Amino acid sequence: MLTKLRKNFIANLLKYPFQQKDELSLYLIAHASLIFCVPIHVFFLIIYLFKGLPLFVYLNCGSLTVYLMAFLLLRAKQYRVVGALVSLEATLYALVWTLLCGISSYIMGYFLLVIVMQLLYPYGTVRLRRIIVLILFLIIIGLVVHAQYTAPFLVFSEDFNFFMTLVNLFITMVGAIIEVSINSWVQRIVFEVKEGRLAELASQIYTDPLTRLYNRRYTEIYFNTLKAEDQQICVAILDIDDFKRINDTYGHPCGDDILIFLAVFLQNNLRKTDRIFRWGGEEFLIIMENVILSQAQVVMDKLRSKLAETEIITKQHKVFITITVGVAPFELTNPEAGIEASDKNLYIGKRNGKNQVVI
Ligand code: GH3
Ligand code: MG
Ligand code: MG
Repeated sequence: MLTKLRKNFIANLLKYPFQQKDELSLYLIAHASLIFCVPIHVFFLIIYLFKGLPLFVYLNCGSLTVYLMAFLLLRAKQYRVVGALVSLEATLYALVWTLLCGISSYIMGYFLLVIVMQLLYPYGTVRLRRIIVLILFLIIIGLVVHAQYTAPFLVFSEDFNFFMTLVNLFITMVGAIIEVSINSWVQRIVFEVKEGRLAELASQIYTDPLTRLYNRRYTEIYFNTLKAEDQQICVAILDIDDFKRINDTYGHPCGDDILIFLAVFLQNNLRKTDRIFRWGGEEFLIIMENVILSQAQVVMDKLRSKLAETEIITKQHKVFITITVGVAPFELTNPEAGIEASDKNLYIGKRNGKNQVVI
């Protein structure tokens, strides 16, 4: 049941982040209040019936009537009103009880529960809740002062008072734990959803939707992650030869398939540490760590000749493509210079007849 609730909540949260967050916490606390408070009042009702205290029997009947109303409001999805009603009921119950019997049995813990509810749950504006908390504190102070100067109207036996003290402390403790748990559960889901959303957005920003490779935007971030140790880095820019003609001959969708194929081909035929970016339309940028220029040239040339011999099978066509690659040394202190140099070499390769690697 909680898993389903969580799923629904997450789905809605993605659509309307703010209302839903409040809605879920109110929904849960309203239900929890009812489930928690109704048995308590039934329990008290039975005790007072046994003890023959009609005034307290009526008091608990009144409370149960309020909870019946709260139940109906809950079904009408009036969670905020339910919360306010339950808070009011607990406040009045504790107030009447304390005025009649004094403060010795710790029923004032109920005020604490109401205060925690106001702090954690969005029953109203922050300003309104601040005023309610202030009023509750004033009531507590008033009751303490009142008890100091007035003898209780009703005095229970010491044993019964001890029993009620334990019961009230237990109710306060369990109630506070429920309130805090529900709140932190909701906060945690909200946090997880936001984190997930952020990660998703980041990956949308930094990856190319067609090839799933990192895009140009990510290069700057990537360069910052490279360690500035004394390592040799090379950069290559790779461009498909006559891609416009391929598009014109076989159609744009076929061109897209070729780009997807090439992305996978590059990933499969380069080292895990080589970073591949989709640099532009049919251009890819490759950063190779721990290689000297001559090694990079050999690697790229193997790649080039293997690709030229590979028949690419797209949905409708079988196509061969060739690539021209410009390679250059890469300095972390000046990334642009390395990229520019490899671009120049690429241009030279294109001018010299394509399908080649130029260093
Ligand atoms: P060269 O050998 O000099 O590189 O010639 P070329 O035709 O490859 O180069 P040109 O820059 O003239 O054309 C690049 C073409 O790449 C043009 C454009 O339609 C195509 N292209 C760019 N991005 C995409 C894409 O995402 N999908 C497809 N199918 N084609 C693309
Ligand atoms: Mg091209
Ligand atoms: Mg190009």
